[in-house]
Amino acid sequence: MPLEGIHHITAITADAPGNVDFYARVLGLRLVKKTVNQDDPTVYHLFYADERGSSGSDITFFEYPGARRGRAGAGMVHRIGWRLASAEALDFWERRLRDEGVPVDRSDDRMRLLDPEGLGLELAVVDTADEPLAAEHPDIPREVALQGFDSVRAYSFDLAASREFLEGALEFRAAGESGYEVRGRERGSFYVYDQAHEAGVGGAGTVHHVAWASPMEEHEAWRARAQEGGAKPTPVIDRFYFRSIYFREPSGVLFEIATIGPGFTADEPLETLGQRLSLPPNFEPLREQVERTLTPLPDPRATPVS
Ligand code: ZN
Repeated sequence: MPLEGIHHITAITADAPGNVDFYARVLGLRLVKKTVNQDDPTVYHLFYADERGSSGSDITFFEYPGARRGRAGAGMVHRIGWRLASAEALDFWERRLRDEGVPVDRSDDRMRLLDPEGLGLELAVVDTADEPLAAEHPDIPREVALQGFDSVRAYSFDLAASREFLEGALEFRAAGESGYEVRGRERGSFYVYDQAHEAGVGGAGTVHHVAWASPMEEHEAWRARAQEGGAKPTPVIDRFYFRSIYFREPSGVLFEIATIGPGFTADEPLETLGQRLSLPPNFEPLREQVERTLTPLPDPRATPVS
């Protein structure tokens, strides 16, 4: 019962409006859910993904207004990789990002960049049979759009520290010197370590956790596996859009295993995903108060006034 690659990646932003502008307008992802942090409903939790809000394409941000910039170090993911279909797509992104004033570091088949708060991103031309997970955007032709996650890279002081746990408990398969492929029946992604030289500091522009995808019916079994492997998983937590368990892998990276489904259409229709503030049912009575407190956000799909 292998995991189905990356489910979602969650990072931290100190600037929700700037975050929407970069991920929805510049990168062309769809803002599929605008909700609040379930542990602190005065701040946003934003989700960007493909057109349908699919597992495998979903990057999410907790808003910590005023948070200081963090710095990725040991036990933290430091780069998030998306797939592109072709070299032409990479050319498109090189032009688009340069036009936006975003510095890029390009090689033949990949390009590295930082988001506005310093989070490491990579766009890579990848030959895969996995379904492309793309969003619609008026300025980005479908064939060059981002197609879902390819990889995450993390820092560790000891590149082999997690090997036994990842291969044994989680069924990751070794790929390259310090990397793993996590491939299920439908899709896969890569998890790679780079040598850490220092401890990390959490904060804006850093990754909080990476979630791996499990079919609903296998979720409990993954919790048992993680525990048997020596990790200390949380109980299953109902996140409304999916169910989750969390634990740290031996290198210190915070992992989540999340279910594929029920998904983002659990509380709003596909057509209007992300337009309205979604609140978990127990926060609904506080809607007026919550909406007053939150930083107003641009609507990335608003019709431009001409
Ligand atoms: Zn998560």
